[in-house]
Order: sequence, then C-alpha cells, then structure tokens
Amino acid sequence: LVSKAPNMGTTIFTVMSALATEKNAVNLGQGFPDFPCDPKLLELVNDAMREGLNQYPPMTGVAPLREAVSKKIETLYGRHYDPATEITVTAGATQAILTIILAIVHAGDEVIVLEPCYDSYVPNIELAGGKVVRVPLTPGTFRPDFDKIRAAITPKTRAILINSPHNPSGMIWSQQDMLTLQEILAPTDIVLISDEVYEHMVYAPNQHWSAAHFDGLAARAFIVSSFGKTYHVTGWKIGTVAAPAAYTAEFRKVHQFNVFTVNTPMQHGLARYMADPAPYLELPAFYQRKRDLFRQGLAQTQFKLLPGEGTYFQCVDISALKVPEKNLSEADFCKWLTTDIGVAAIPLSAFYGNGFDQKVIRFCFAKKDETLNLALERLARL
Ligand code: PMP
Ligand code: GLN
Repeated sequence: LVSKAPNMGTTIFTVMSALATEKNAVNLGQGFPDFPCDPKLLELVNDAMREGLNQYPPMTGVAPLREAVSKKIETLYGRHYDPATEITVTAGATQAILTIILAIVHAGDEVIVLEPCYDSYVPNIELAGGKVVRVPLTPGTFRPDFDKIRAAITPKTRAILINSPHNPSGMIWSQQDMLTLQEILAPTDIVLISDEVYEHMVYAPNQHWSAAHFDGLAARAFIVSSFGKTYHVTGWKIGTVAAPAAYTAEFRKVHQFNVFTVNTPMQHGLARYMADPAPYLELPAFYQRKRDLFRQGLAQTQFKLLPGEGTYFQCVDISALKVPEKNLSEADFCKWLTTDIGVAAIPLSAFYGNGFDQKVIRFCFAKKDETLNLALERLARL
C-alpha cells in the first residue's frame, strides 16, 4: 500500500492517554472529564431509547435538537439560524471540521491556520488537497497577530480557521479581535471556520464572542460546537455546525456521504436536556473554581503559570524547574513526567507543524478535586 499520509503519526492525545494508562499516571493530558455527567441527561437518553427512538434520524439531525440549538444561539449570540436549513448535527466537532474542509477546499486552495492549533486541522486540510498556510499566534500571549494574518492572505486563500476559546492556550478573542478579523475579511470571499467548542468555558471578566455576534463574520462562517465539552460527555461525539443556508447546503452534500447522520436517542436526550439552560449557564462557575484550585496549587510549585481565560486547559512553562529533565524536549519531558512523576500532560509542540518547542506543556483540569490534588502533590516534588 502506498501511504496517502506518510508523515501523519498517531495523535498525541492517543499516545499520552495510552502511556498514562500503562504507567498508572494521573491523566491531565487528553481533554476529558473524569467525573460523570448529570444523571438527568442519562435518563433522558434512556427515555428516548425506550420510546423506540432508535432508527435513522433525518440526515440533518433530529428537529428538536436543531431547534434547541437555534434557540440557544439566538438567545446567547443574537442571531437566528433556521433549524431546517442552517443547523446540522454532526458526530462531534472533529467530523464537523473535516466535513467543512472537504466541502469547501478545492485542490490547491490555501487555508490559514493559527498556530498552535488543534491537531486535526492540518491533516484535514492536507487530505482535502489544500495547502496549509501557518500563521503564528503571538508567542507568550497567544493573541492573534493581525499584521501576520493580513500578510498571509492571497487570491488563493479559501478559508481561515480560528478557535476561541483556544485549545491549548485558553486564550479568548476579544470583541475587538473579532471586529478586526471582520474588517480584514470584508473585501475577500474567504470562508471563516470558527471552532467554538469551548464556548461555555469562559472565565470572568472575559466573555465569548461568537462569530454569530457579527454580521460580516456570520455571513461567511461555519460555526462549530460540541456537546461533549459542554455536558461532560466527550465519548458521545455529538456536535453541530451552524452556517448560512448556502454554506449548509454544501456542507450537507458531504455530510450525507460521510456519516449520513448521528445516533438518534442521544440527539433526543440532548434536545430535551437543553430545555433548561442552567447546565451551560452554570458551566463557567463550575470550571472557574477548578481552574482556581489548580492554579493556586501550581503557584506553589516551580512551574510558571501562563494565563488561563477559558477552556479546561492550563499551560505552564517548565524552564524554571530544578530537575535536569526540564532540558528535554517538551514531548520527552511529558513522557518522563508521566512515567517517573505519575502525571500526564501534553507538549505544546504537538500543536505546531514544525514541532516548535517553547518549554510549555498543557494540563487539563476537567477533573475531580481529588484528582487535581493528587496531581498537584506529585508536581510539587519538582
Ligand atoms: N476542536 C477543538 C479545539 C477541540 O479541543 C476538540 C476536542 N478535542 C475538538 C475540536 C473535537 O471535538 P469533538 O470531541 O466534539 O470531536
Ligand atoms: N480535544 C481534546 C484535547 O485537546 C482531545 C480530543 C482527542 O483525543 N482527539 O485534549
């Protein structure tokens, strides 16, 4: 077999979770909660199964879920998306992003990504025959550098992919950032792919600025969300894409021959659960407490804290540690940390195409307090 992806390895999240399991380490690497979801959500899914809602749903997703998502976007971000023509249920954000890229990127098109970026973006663009154009976020702050973004745009630019709140840095785009992007894109026909899977994990005084808030962005945007993050069910792999009708029509052409549709009972369960906005409205306070607990613990160690405005990730600089292993590459340091100290983390270099190594690693704090405290106890030894 001639490999179509000779340079594509195994995703870092799989590698680090396997090592964490093998070494019996506290897994603060791959992003997922170690606590259960709301039992009410499980009951609602069970109800749907028992009611016999177990056959193929419509290709676009069940109507009550598309309606619930439309209502949420309108309430929070002030824009109406027609559930029939502008919202599609996907098998998580991962499938959503690949499907968007397959639907819009022609061979040879350029797609701008802002590095560090989530590890599926670049392989997705390459599989679609597109050309990846990497623009670095500002080192240290991870804020967008609009001069560099402007300079990266050419007549061949088909799309730009942004992600706020940002994995891995936790940085959030401000209203002004979004307005500047809107102004830059205004004279172009560049498509915006806005990965907003952490939309409900934003800590005061910050707020989430969805592409849906801005007329000029929403008109050209695919907005990607994920229920896995918001409702503590990453294994369910359900998300949505909201986009103008003409964009959604192109998206659905590919979606129908990609997964066709997404499992029925969980869609109904989620739709019923969404009738109460409390779970997502309470999420920032829930995670802010964990973030503060984790940051306060890390402040007692030699790890240097980077800012954390959103997401359930916290990045730290390892260069002030006393141990000689701080001189290893980030990737080797994370393996050592998992194996010898018993705490798994993700090297930031995994989010860069050239493996850029800035001595920064990422922890996930979506964990029970006891898990975080155990990890902190181990990290305090360094
Ligand atoms: N985008 C980002 C930025 C993510 O962090 C994740 C979750 N790992 C995804 C997309 C994929 O989300 P899902 O699990 O819904 O496929
Ligand atoms: N999004 C999660 C993270 O960044 C992992 C998802 C995955 O394992 N593919 O940790």
